[in-house]
Amino acid sequence: MVTGAPAPSTAAEGPALRIGVLALQGDVREHERALATLGATTVRVRRPADLFGLDALVLPGGESSVIDKLSRAFGLREPLRAAIVAGLPVYGTCAGMILLAERLEDAIAGQQTFGGLDITVRRNAFGRQQESFEAMLLLPALGDEPVAATFIRAPEVVLAGPDVEVLARLEDGRIVAVRQGNLLATAFHPEVSGERRFHRLLLESAAVRRADGTAGTS
Ligand code: GLN
Repeated sequence: MVTGAPAPSTAAEGPALRIGVLALQGDVREHERALATLGATTVRVRRPADLFGLDALVLPGGESSVIDKLSRAFGLREPLRAAIVAGLPVYGTCAGMILLAERLEDAIAGQQTFGGLDITVRRNAFGRQQESFEAMLLLPALGDEPVAATFIRAPEVVLAGPDVEVLARLEDGRIVAVRQGNLLATAFHPEVSGERRFHRLLLESAAVRRADGTAGTS
């Protein structure tokens, strides 16, 4: 249903969607590129004012404990949490998934998350030999084409609450992609493999929210 859909924002529908990319640390540029190819305008988010007027936000991969610390140092944590609660569509990849989790396993001392997703995430869940690997995943929600998923020191979802939709599992059953309301998260990195369907899903949520007239209020 998503595959082959037109880009959510066209000139006829008004200005391009404005998508923030949290730019404290991590693979910011890869997400900017993915979003730009889908016709979105991107904004680097480093301070609270950067959140204003966004249609959606991406939390990139990187090191979740560093992003957490910097978000607090920059005064971003609380406004970002408020934006999530207000319904801003957010997509987190890898460290971004960790940051969206309500509960963490194997966090470093004092590590916090923004929360929003009713999931428990285990950091660095794949052993040393498998710290980085690729897997083909079936993701019915994205269409028939399997997803080439790149895992880099990836987390896994060890527990998903009743309102969480599990989008993908590895062959052994481990959960690696989830969605709950406007929040989307993958343990892997579509932005590095040219996979664009997750970003497209985010843009679709953003377009719906803009059409509802609730965008830009966060
Ligand atoms: N292991 C990292 C962390 O805990 C996540 C790795 C990634 O984003 N590729 O934040």
